[in-house]
Amino acid sequence: MRRATGMQRWAVLGAGALGLTVALRLAERGDEVIIYERESEPGGLAAGFPLGAAHLEKFYHHLFRTDHSAVGLIDELGLGDRLEWHRPVTAVFREGRAWPMDSARSVLQFGPLSPLERARLSAGLAYLKLSPSSPDNAETASEWIRRWMGNEAYRTLWEPLLRSKFGEHHDSIAMPWFWARVHLRTSRLGYLRGGFQQLYDSLAHRIAGLGSTVMLDTTVEEVRPEAGKLQVRTNRGNDRFDAVVSTLPGPLTLRLVPSLPEVYKERYATVDGLAAMCLVLALDRRLTDIYWLNLNDDGFPFQPLVEHTNLVGTGDYDGRHIVYLGNYLPVASELLRASPAQLLAAFEPHLKRINPSFRTSWVMETWLFRAPFAQPIVTPGYGRRRAPHLTPVTGLYVANMFQIFPQDRGQNYSIRLADHLVQSVL
Ligand SMILES: Cc1cc2nc3c(=O)[nH]c(=O)nc-3n(C[C@H](O)[C@H](O)[C@H](O)COP(=O)(O)OP(=O)(O)OC[C@H]3O[C@@H](n4cnc5c(N)ncnc54)[C@H](O)[C@@H]3O)c2cc1C
Repeated sequence: MRRATGMQRWAVLGAGALGLTVALRLAERGDEVIIYERESEPGGLAAGFPLGAAHLEKFYHHLFRTDHSAVGLIDELGLGDRLEWHRPVTAVFREGRAWPMDSARSVLQFGPLSPLERARLSAGLAYLKLSPSSPDNAETASEWIRRWMGNEAYRTLWEPLLRSKFGEHHDSIAMPWFWARVHLRTSRLGYLRGGFQQLYDSLAHRIAGLGSTVMLDTTVEEVRPEAGKLQVRTNRGNDRFDAVVSTLPGPLTLRLVPSLPEVYKERYATVDGLAAMCLVLALDRRLTDIYWLNLNDDGFPFQPLVEHTNLVGTGDYDGRHIVYLGNYLPVASELLRASPAQLLAAFEPHLKRINPSFRTSWVMETWLFRAPFAQPIVTPGYGRRRAPHLTPVTGLYVANMFQIFPQDRGQNYSIRLADHLVQSVL
């Protein structure tokens, strides 16, 4: 198979963290890159919208101390002094109240479990924190948790969390994903003051400065080999390239490239994901004093509740208190079609469960965001089912968040994957 080495003209599909980093690295080595992005701003799932003096993410975002690639890129772009680290309260709502869950001590004080169950939970967590790799690659997180942390810890703590992230697949999530989730998590959380949008705007700016182009509002409709090149058709016309890197969600790339062999499409179509939806509320006062609240009591129609301004303060948002009500849902879910007003009406009684004085009159503004491909479903064997970067179509490479495993997808891992792709594959 012909490799891309020496090729000069690239198309990169998607201007999220991955596409922009790939484009930057290619442009830095002197190649010409055109990046196609459907939305009006770069940043993909981590993009924001203007609010007050800042950009606010459409979906809640922070970094962990272990996110070295993201921190490195932020420094490289001269934004390091804007990256602030905080130690906010994260908690679990169970039995009608919030239990802090952000330190070894708070785990031992988690009232819904007996002292013995808490000790088992703590020991299990400590083991995963210290273990340099997943204790078992073949079994599911639910099997491992039940065996080592106990049935009650699973039912009370982990099952609601896995259900909120993976829906009906909660019982069949791969153990390495759960290990990475615990192992890499830190209680200090980072936020780029003014919004992560600055990272993506800076990347786009730097790419343009190197002579390449970020084409916003441009939807890729098809990629097709033609006379030894790859033709990219968009809603704004056609162009031809020596090579194409698609950072679009895996299932979407399969649809956009008709010349990919059927056997290849069938093989990689098995990798599936859930959509994300966030109702963002701007309140005239605080709802809770918690940054991240997992809702583990039955019946909550959203999960988690993230009170962003308990991480960063309200100063950048003209005093507004920002609350995200998140949800991961199957793409066919009716809830994805509801309006902000319908959602707020449905969510109100549940917000009152969290803070009984809550009134909808506190809500100054609402925004609703949805993304169809937001959370890969990582069942056992996922690692083997990921598509490789090289495809059977000469000059077409795929790199996307569906290839990230066992770590949970995140800005850091898209940036890291982009660096790996350019250094080791292209
Ligand atoms: C609810 C939620 C919370 C999250 N929280 C965090 C967090 O706290 N910290 C963190 O680091 N990460 C978080 N993430 C994950 C993070 O946002 C992603 O991992 C990262 O942004 C993925 O970047 P990417 O470039 O790989 O993919 P994407 O951001 O999905 O980029 C793909 C791009 O392709 C574009 N595109 C799609 N179709 C077309 C087309 N046909 N033509 C042209 N362009 C197209 C899209 O508009 C998008 O810009 C969260 C994600 C969600 C959904």
